[in-house]
Amino acid sequence: MNAKGMLRLPKHIWFCLIAGVALIVSVTVGMMLPLQPEALNNHIESGAIAGNLVASANLSQRVTEFQGQMFDSWQQQASAKGVYQQIPKRYQGQTLSDVKPNPRDKIIALTFDDGPWPKYTEQILDILKANNIKGTFFVIGRNMKNFPDIGKRIVAEGHTIANHTWHHWYHRMSPKAAAYEIDATEEIIYQVTGVRTNLFRPPGGILGNGPAAYARSKNYSVIMWSADSHDYKRPPAERLISNVMRNSKPGGIVLMHDGGGVRDSTVKALPSMIKQFRDSGYRFVTMPEMLALEDKQLQTIAKK
Ligand SMILES: [Zn+2]
Repeated sequence: MNAKGMLRLPKHIWFCLIAGVALIVSVTVGMMLPLQPEALNNHIESGAIAGNLVASANLSQRVTEFQGQMFDSWQQQASAKGVYQQIPKRYQGQTLSDVKPNPRDKIIALTFDDGPWPKYTEQILDILKANNIKGTFFVIGRNMKNFPDIGKRIVAEGHTIANHTWHHWYHRMSPKAAAYEIDATEEIIYQVTGVRTNLFRPPGGILGNGPAAYARSKNYSVIMWSADSHDYKRPPAERLISNVMRNSKPGGIVLMHDGGGVRDSTVKALPSMIKQFRDSGYRFVTMPEMLALEDKQLQTIAKK
C-alpha cells in the first residue's frame, strides 16, 4: 500500500491505529514512572500479563537501569539523613562499652540486637518514631536477607544500622568463617539499604572467637554495652526497666533485643523506660552521634 492508499483508510481504522499507539505509549510511560520498588514490581507483573507490548529484553534492561537509579537515590537519601556516617579515627579498630561525654550532656544510646524481625522490630520502630528517638540496630545478616523491607525501614526512619554477624554463632571460628560473618553481613546491609557500617557488636558479647578480631582488623568499632536490660530472659517490664536504669549514666549504652525471639517485654517496657530517661534529663543519641560527641569532648580536653 502506498502513502496515498494509506491516507484513504476508513475513519474507524485510523481511530484504531491512533488508539493502539496511545495505548503502547501510556503503558511504556507507566512502566518508567513508578517511585517505589513495590510499584515497580507491580508494573513488571502487569507488564507480563499485558503480553508482548514491549520486547522483554528492552523491558529487563530498563528495569535494571531503573533499579540502579533507585539504589543511587536511596544512598543519597541515607547520606542526607545522616545515617551514612564515618566513625572518628580514634574509635576505629577499638572496643568500647560506653563513652565519657561532656558531663553536663546526659546522653544515652538505645541499641537493639538480632533483628530485623517481623512484628517486634516494627513495634519498636513505632515507639521510637512516636517519641522522636533515633536508635542503633545491630542486625543479623541472614535476618536482613529474609526481612529486607524491615531493614529498609530502620534506615529510612533515620536509625543507625550496624553489623551483628551473619549467623549469630558463639563458637570459635576459623579466620575464613569469621571474615564471612562480618563481610557478608556488611554486604547485605549495603545491598538492602545503601548504608556501609563500621560498627560491630559480637553475638553474646564474645570477643575471643574470631569475628570481633576480624572486625577490628577492618577498622570497625566494636560496640559493647554498659546497661544490659536482660530482656532475653523476658522479665516483667518493671524489672527490665530497673535493670537498665540502675546501670545507666551519661555516655551509657543500653542493650536490648528487637529480634531472634519473643520480645513482648522489650516492647512493653520501652515507652516507660523512655519516659524515665527523659524525666531524669537524658536525651537519646545513636552510636555514631555518641562517638562524635565524645570525640569532640576529647579534642576540647586535648586543646586545654
Ligand atoms: Zn545478638
